Amino acid sequence: MNIIFASQNAGKIAEIRAKLPSYTIEGLNAEEFPDELLETGSTLDANALQKARQVFKKTGKNCFADDTGLEVEALDGAPGVYSARYAGEQKSSEDNMTMLLGELDGKANRKARFRTVVALIWEGEEYTFEGICEGRITTSRSGAEGFGYDPIFQPEGNETTFAQMTMEQKSIMSHRGRAVEKLVEFLKLHTK
Ligand code: IMP
Repeated sequence: MNIIFASQNAGKIAEIRAKLPSYTIEGLNAEEFPDELLETGSTLDANALQKARQVFKKTGKNCFADDTGLEVEALDGAPGVYSARYAGEQKSSEDNMTMLLGELDGKANRKARFRTVVALIWEGEEYTFEGICEGRITTSRSGAEGFGYDPIFQPEGNETTFAQMTMEQKSIMSHRGRAVEKLVEFLKLHTK
């Protein structure tokens, strides 16, 4: 069974392939999708659906897209849906982490959560699945695995950041892992 995952992020594609071993997960073909998919919504749901719809419109195939935000309690949920461009349009993870550490400098409340929405278009119908991972923002970077804000995010109940975990360890507890588990359950029910 082939499903298109509306992403060119190699780290994310690897994480999702590991969760769906009995499916062929294709990332976006750079020739078919030379430009970045539009994500102009003001919520994670809207952006995930917007990306999945663009892929479905062009390919007509079953597909899904995800959108993730890092919601920091002391910043009233920022950067949230704007996580990718928190420090500017260059969308640099290094700049984003520097900005966030600066904003939280001296703040005692470092609670944060990652939230992912996966939007699936399956046989022309739309479905969404949410996954949340609670945790905190550390005071400095640790670890070299993963991507994005991983070096400064410590999931609840852990002494290490996501960037100090293997992909498998992260995936068990991560926001995206949890949303994708719901997607997997859906696919199991619908592909018997
Ligand atoms: P996107 O919507 O999934 O592309 O992600 C929005 C922003 O959150 C980007 O800056 C990503 O690097 C970051 N991000 C998404 N997922 C993760 C994750 O699992 N760990 C750390 N950062 C992430």
